[in-house]
Amino acid sequence: MELRSLIRDVPNFPKQGIIFKDITTLLKNPIGLNQAVEELLNFLHNKHITKVAGIESRGFILGGIVAQKLGAGFVPIRKPGKLPAECISESYSLEYGTDKIEIHKDAIQKGDKVLLHDDLLATGGTMEAACKLVERLGGEVAQISFLIELSFLNGREKLRNYDVRSIIQYDSE
Ligand code: AMP
Repeated sequence: MELRSLIRDVPNFPKQGIIFKDITTLLKNPIGLNQAVEELLNFLHNKHITKVAGIESRGFILGGIVAQKLGAGFVPIRKPGKLPAECISESYSLEYGTDKIEIHKDAIQKGDKVLLHDDLLATGGTMEAACKLVERLGGEVAQISFLIELSFLNGREKLRNYDVRSIIQYDSE
């Protein structure tokens, strides 16, 4: 199945000028959902992943399924103030201003081999910050995967030291 055909473009969401890539239309399709999970698993030969870290909130969905299929644990990376126990945080720049993400201090053990997952790679700022969180806790970023990559934004450049995979690429808006 052509997974791209299951992604819905929503213009001007959440603000004017953004074309939002809505993955709910893929997730609700049983064949599409299964294929997306299989493709993410296929990226992972001999990686011996011990934890999958998903980025709030859409990274939790496929990240959680992949973790279970791998027999790995799942770790949430969230916006500030959402995780209840002691956290470390990383800031990253947005087009205007900065944003922050957090992880529980005890979520990753030294030597963990971590798959980082999010639904979409745009500028790469969010994922770069997520990599720093995992590495500060002594984890190894073994792979980074996305369902969608907006290739024209060159987010991959910020992640050039890592094994970066994506299922669907867009070369232009
Ligand atoms: P970035 O840090 O620029 O790579 O942005 C990635 C984060 O923003 C991801 O968590 C995405 O879910 C979200 N995001 C950015 N652009 C879009 C878009 N056009 N459609 C859907 N989500 C987006």
